[in-house]
Amino acid sequence: MQRILITGAAGFLGSHLCDRFINEGYHVIGMDNLITGDIRNIEHLFHLKEFQFYHHDVTKFVHVPGKLDYILHFASPASPIDYLKIPIQTLKVGSLGTHNLLGLAKEKKARILIASTSEVYGDPLVHPQHEEYYGNVNTIGPRGVYDEAKRFQESITMAYHRFHGLETRIVRIFNTYGPRMRLNDGRVIPAFIGQALRGEDLTVFGDGTQTRSFCYITDQVEGIFRLLMSDYVEPINIGNPHEITIGEFAEEIIKLTGTTQKVIYKELPVDDPLQRKPDIRKAKEILGWEPKVDRSEGMRRTYEYFKSLPESELFKKEHKDFSTYTRM
Ligand code: UDP
Repeated sequence: MQRILITGAAGFLGSHLCDRFINEGYHVIGMDNLITGDIRNIEHLFHLKEFQFYHHDVTKFVHVPGKLDYILHFASPASPIDYLKIPIQTLKVGSLGTHNLLGLAKEKKARILIASTSEVYGDPLVHPQHEEYYGNVNTIGPRGVYDEAKRFQESITMAYHRFHGLETRIVRIFNTYGPRMRLNDGRVIPAFIGQALRGEDLTVFGDGTQTRSFCYITDQVEGIFRLLMSDYVEPINIGNPHEITIGEFAEEIIKLTGTTQKVIYKELPVDDPLQRKPDIRKAKEILGWEPKVDRSEGMRRTYEYFKSLPESELFKKEHKDFSTYTRM
């Protein structure tokens, strides 16, 4: 049986990856320090003998007994609000954590896939973003802790590949959504749905003309799976190129949820990228991958998930104060 270590296993992406690799017949070792992850996302796997969980912080030395065939490094805060709450941990997990996992991969002769991000392109001056674009990142802004950690992560991963001959893969993940997103992590989809469910107005930041392109979780997981199994070493974008402005998206959510609330406008966060859309030609050519779930279907499933959460979750506020989000 092949053994795979998944870091960030209790997170949104990590937990769906655990499910996928269990279904593919792997022995899955999940690891998470539960700072932003939620154990409930993987509770359903605990009775399986093919699943083990280590409550561990990957910025500390990582020890896993036995053989490992694959490592997926998905541990990291991934919401702009989290970068403000836990900036040092965000930097450490992308840098020190990645270093530890590359060392582990080398020791175990395992293939390692690193979760990178569209944030390496910063507030992009090239549209759509292709993999050869070097990006436009503010190193010292509030998002810099995430963006630079992820850029360093790509560099050290390529260095391990070139210097040690390690088998490495890098996925640049664009905005992804679906069940198990954290309701109160401040990201736009849980924010809008949560507001609609609580009967609050929808908060559009800025004038709402900024764009994003949202990829449904099952499509993202399929892209990551294909990349891991491929022999392609350089970074690949995985995301849905169907672009929408945040203002239009708020209107879509109003229709989907049937809320009678309206849109209100708030200050645009510092360094909020104006436009984002992946160029997925490489993923198509090299992995034969493209997204299959359109936004209406994906959002319907996501809304069903959020509706099914207990009311106490809905009113639990993780982030009351957004003021630092818009100030340096
Ligand atoms: N956004 C918004 N209202 C919210 C939360 C987010 O208008 O309540 C905007 C945010 O300014 C950004 C976009 O939605 O332009 C996506 O934000 P998110 O935090 O989901 O992810 P990002 O793509 O910025 O990392």
